Amino acid sequence: MTANADTTHSTHSAKRGLPLTRLALISLCLGAATDAKADEAIALALPIKCQPGVSCFFQNYVDHDASDKVRDYRGGARSYNSHDGTDIRIRNQEIQKRGVEVLAAAPGRVTGGRNDMEDVSTRIAGKAAIAGKECGNGVIIEHADGWSTQYCHLAKSSIRVKPGDQIKTGQPIGLVGLSGDTEFFHLHFTVRYRGKAVDPFAFGAPEKACGAGRSLWAASLGEQMQYRPREIIDFGFAGIAPTMELIESGEIEKHAVTQDADALVAYVRAIGLQAGDQQTLAVQGPGDTSMPTNALPALDRDKAQFLVLAGKKRTEAAWPAGRYVATYTVTRDGAEVLRKTFEVEAGAR
Ligand SMILES: [Zn+2]
Repeated sequence: MTANADTTHSTHSAKRGLPLTRLALISLCLGAATDAKADEAIALALPIKCQPGVSCFFQNYVDHDASDKVRDYRGGARSYNSHDGTDIRIRNQEIQKRGVEVLAAAPGRVTGGRNDMEDVSTRIAGKAAIAGKECGNGVIIEHADGWSTQYCHLAKSSIRVKPGDQIKTGQPIGLVGLSGDTEFFHLHFTVRYRGKAVDPFAFGAPEKACGAGRSLWAASLGEQMQYRPREIIDFGFAGIAPTMELIESGEIEKHAVTQDADALVAYVRAIGLQAGDQQTLAVQGPGDTSMPTNALPALDRDKAQFLVLAGKKRTEAAWPAGRYVATYTVTRDGAEVLRKTFEVEAGAR
C-alpha cells in the first residue's frame, strides 16, 4: 500500500492526557499478559538481505486495532488499517535494480507462489488490475507446528523456488520488486499461526494491550529490530531541487553539487513523523556565504513519509568553495527527538 498516504492517529489525546491518565495507560501495558506458550515459538530470520535502520526500514507494522483506526504494536501509527504484515522498504529503484534478495525466514516447504506479474506501482496500474492478486509475485512457506510465512511484491520472474521445495532458513527465494498492491519498493512479510496472521514483533499480544506480546525474531538479530518511531531514510545534497520522484528512483544521487550546479539543496526524507512534530533543516555555508534555513510549522497530521529541503539557486558564477553543513532536527513539545548532521565539499578551489 501507499507510503505517501497520511495515516490518522488515534492516540494523541491519550498521550497528551493528565499524568494520572498516563499512569493508567502504563499500568495497563505492564499488566497485559501474553497467552503464547513456549512450545509454540518459532525463531524467524530476517526475510530480506539488508540491514534494518541502515539499508532498509520498517515502513509499516501489523495493525493491532480492530476498528478503522490504526495502532502498531508500540501504540504508534506506523501501520495502516487492517495491515496484516510487516513492510520492509528499501531506499530506491537503483538499489532494487541491482537486486535485493528475499530470504526464507525459517525452514519449511513451499506451498504456493506466483511469478508472472508486472513490476508497476498501483498508482499507475490501478487497483482493478491487481484485484485478488494484491500480494503480487509471492511465495508461501509452511513451517512446523502450524506456522507459515508469506512474502509479497517480489520482482517479476525473480522467484527461484516452486511448490513442494524444501527450504532452509536464509535461502534466497526471489528479489524485492513492485508487483501487486504496492507503490514503493518493499517486502510485505506476513507470519501466520494456525492460519491467522500474527505480529512477529508482538506475538500473543492481547487486544488493546500496548507493548505486550513477544518477539518471534531470532535473538541474534538484536538491536536492529528495535522500534524507531521516526527514521531518516535518505539525506544528502543535490545540485538540483530534489523531488520525491528523483529520490525514490535513486536519480538524485547522480546530481552532485558541482561548482556551477544550478542549485545547492540539502534534503532529508523521513518516515514515521507524527502530528505535532516540528522539523528544521538549516544549511551553513563556508565563510559568510548565506544559506537558508527551512523551519516548518508543526505537522497537522502523521506522515508516512516526508521530504524536507533547504537551499537555493545559484546566483553567482560559481558556488563559494568550501564546506556546506546541513543540520536536520525534529522537535516535539520543545524536546528534540531526532537530529542528523551531514555535509558536502563544494565549489571552486
Ligand atoms: Zn504490507
